[in-house]
Amino acid sequence: MRVLGLETSCDETGIALYDSEKGLLAHRVYSQIALHAEYGGVVPELASRDHVRKAQPLINEVMAEAGMTLSDLDGIAYTCGPGLVGALLVGACLGRSLAWALDIPALGVHHMEGHLLAPMLEDNPPEFPFIALLVSGGHTQLVQVDGIGRYSLLGESLDDAAGEAFDKAAKMMGLPYPGGPALSKLADSGDDSRFKFPRPMTDRPGLDFSFSGLKTFTRTTILGCAVDGVLAEQDKADIAAGFQAAVVDTLAIKCKRAMKETGINRLIIAGGVGANKRLREKLRQTAESLKGAVYYPRPELCTDNGAMIAYAGTQRLLAGERAELAVSVVPRWPMTELAPVERVDRS
Ligand code: ATP
Ligand code: MG
Ligand code: FE
Repeated sequence: MRVLGLETSCDETGIALYDSEKGLLAHRVYSQIALHAEYGGVVPELASRDHVRKAQPLINEVMAEAGMTLSDLDGIAYTCGPGLVGALLVGACLGRSLAWALDIPALGVHHMEGHLLAPMLEDNPPEFPFIALLVSGGHTQLVQVDGIGRYSLLGESLDDAAGEAFDKAAKMMGLPYPGGPALSKLADSGDDSRFKFPRPMTDRPGLDFSFSGLKTFTRTTILGCAVDGVLAEQDKADIAAGFQAAVVDTLAIKCKRAMKETGINRLIIAGGVGANKRLREKLRQTAESLKGAVYYPRPELCTDNGAMIAYAGTQRLLAGERAELAVSVVPRWPMTELAPVERVDRS
């Protein structure tokens, strides 16, 4: 089955073509980062308009790269939540109507299920069950995954998501939006032991997270170092390194706890922060210390993309799920409400 995937939940237009036999055939991501940069965050109305502008040309590019035309499609999957309502509606309207015009099935996909299944697009994918660490701009969750749609939430952030914390700390240091990757790069030249950042909520039982205290600690540290409001480059790098080490350690401590408590030693990392090199390395060591393994998508499939939506959509379309003709999106949508997929018919 060949499925076109459309992702438009936030500020990336992601389009991909996935084949259930041959794997990922082509994918393209257009990021609106430059458009929103001057505002320091995503402006919903601008995001919707830019998805309208880019979605169709990207579909053409993806089909051309795969050497196919729309008549080669067997289904269309689009992100239908959670996310920005206007942005979601662009992909949902386009995907639903294109499928209707082509007389093929369509399906709305949960954005976080997309992130969570993205490691399945790589060689040597993990077997079920596994523990998933979802670390993105809007979510920090530990999930036990027993199969597609069989998700139990083990813990989550009580305040900021990990990516959000990276972005806010970066902003305080004057780094451009979105600051996660920039902060991480700066941390490479810093000393992570100079400032003793806390490891929030690791000294008590449970699998929840809290990252807002790290933000406050970052602010106080900056104030303590700055001379006439200006931070020296080395101070900046040391703060970035201390901050990153604290987030990475905290995530690793909770992952280890989740793996020990469930007895499951396969761990996957997904979502934008999963592109962080230090986090990947630390979680590899964590999984190995429990004689397990860690799995993650290539960095470009950690952040928003159409491939993960095409993959998740294909699994559910193969199991017979279909969207109604009416277009609907769900801006807030807990992943645990998803229906389990009992059996996937690959014929
Ligand atoms: P959600 O999926 O929860 O709706 P989102 O789609 O905006 O949120 P993603 O695209 O998965 O989130 O990830 C973006 C986030 O990942 C941003 O906060 C960004 O700063 C962060 N990020 C990306 N690369 C890195 C990195 N190398 N180190 C740390 N953070 C990173
Ligand atoms: Mg984004
Ligand atoms: Fe995302």
